Amino acid sequence: ARALRLILGDQLNPLHSWFEHPDPGVVHVLMEVRQETDYVLHHAQKILAIFAAMRDFARHLREAGHRVRYVAIDDPSNRQDMTQNLAALMAHYGARELSYQQPDEWRVSENLRTWGASQTFSVREVDSEHFYTSRDEVAEFFGPRRQWLMEAFYRHMRQRHGVLMDTSGAPMGGRWNFDHDNREPWQGTPLLPPDARPVHDHRGLWETVRQAGVQSFGNPQAGEFHWPLNRAQALAWLDHFIQSALPNFGAYEDAMSAGNPRLFHSQLSFALNTKMLHPDEVVRQAQAAYEAGHAPLAAVEGFIRQILGWREYVRGVYWAHMPGYETRNALGHARPLPAWFWTGQTTMRCMRDAIGNSLENAYAHHIQRLMVIGNFALLAGLDPGAVHQWYLGVYIDAFEWVELPNTVGMSQFADGGLLGTKPYVSSASYIDRMSDYCQACPYDRKQRTGDRACPFNALYWDFFARHQPLLQDNRRLAMVYQQWRKTPEHVQTALRDQAALTLSRLDDL
Ligand code: SF4
Repeated sequence: ARALRLILGDQLNPLHSWFEHPDPGVVHVLMEVRQETDYVLHHAQKILAIFAAMRDFARHLREAGHRVRYVAIDDPSNRQDMTQNLAALMAHYGARELSYQQPDEWRVSENLRTWGASQTFSVREVDSEHFYTSRDEVAEFFGPRRQWLMEAFYRHMRQRHGVLMDTSGAPMGGRWNFDHDNREPWQGTPLLPPDARPVHDHRGLWETVRQAGVQSFGNPQAGEFHWPLNRAQALAWLDHFIQSALPNFGAYEDAMSAGNPRLFHSQLSFALNTKMLHPDEVVRQAQAAYEAGHAPLAAVEGFIRQILGWREYVRGVYWAHMPGYETRNALGHARPLPAWFWTGQTTMRCMRDAIGNSLENAYAHHIQRLMVIGNFALLAGLDPGAVHQWYLGVYIDAFEWVELPNTVGMSQFADGGLLGTKPYVSSASYIDRMSDYCQACPYDRKQRTGDRACPFNALYWDFFARHQPLLQDNRRLAMVYQQWRKTPEHVQTALRDQAALTLSRLDDL
């Protein structure tokens, strides 16, 4: 072969220009390596889904006439290291040129770049042909500004790509953002969409992964595994979402319901982040649903904002701040994760449901991640690096470029407020308003002190009290600090004592 092309596990895009015409001089290489399974402890389903999707992709390429070399996790020639495998394969095929698509993780990008620079054959990086923006575009958009407001970038993207814009150049519906129409709790109606997810049986692959010694956590569900594993399944999933869930997505995007882990969420992030789907086709289909009168503007706009705005924005933040962003810790938080992050065995019903879903399905929806798990982690002062590793490992859609800014920036405020204008924390009242968790929780959402008091309540006030020097001048927190200052001293003391007691026994909550 003349050339090898490396395809990473999150580059499963059959529409990439590489695959327009089969070329007998080119071998496409996919590999399952311990380097990629082991850099963080992963959920079993995440390893399974990526390997199964990679295997499916290799099959698809072969059927289309392309040459493929697939290095399985148990292949005797597998050196379990990407560049060592590449060096061996280049020699084996006598190839003179290696190409790879631009990686989305800094770690992989650096690995390939530094290794590639010292080779005698030619090494070329090509575009992954997936995102709307280049790595540096968000940084160029914001320039020297200290705070990077997503909303400004999002409006720019709407205009630039003509998404939800009317012919006069104004946003459809006269507003850019319809969030205040959203945020409803869900109380059983409207009915949830039917479950149309594919079922895969991956017991054989799971056995191979286990025998290779790959460590993991969470339920492998190898016998009835649900994620879309190729573009055709991802397109069917997208269509099902648009038809049956998108109309209600907006109103209930912040709702939480025990035992209903999906509600009206799309769960398209795995298919998008592995590049089975292109963001623009998802955005255009959602827009078409609005134009056809099938879904309200508030739902469509809220959904599109996540993909056209937020997703591209966090990627830009990631590339502007790597390396180093992963160790940010502006609030100096250092507590280890309580043991029940790995079991779900806590009395707090909200945490039990959100962490339980995560361990069961390698998935929790946005508001569970942000306002239950992330909220608790921030209030309790958990080490943001450990929180980041947990999120990166547990979620099926978590690739570092998207997970890290969401966790370290938005959720844990560990970047000191680059992404979020204030820390996303709440006491029990928010969780109670948006969910049915508190009604059946052994803790009392109304009590702030005492054995039965909801842990979120005292932790909430303790968080603001202990970070007063850093946060009190934040204008978005003026009301919080006003309320704290008005709280009688003996109540302040009682709240802080309660918080100290809670923090001393986090494992037992
Ligand atoms: Fe969570 Fe507190 Fe509500 Fe229990 S009472 S579900 S711990 S917020």
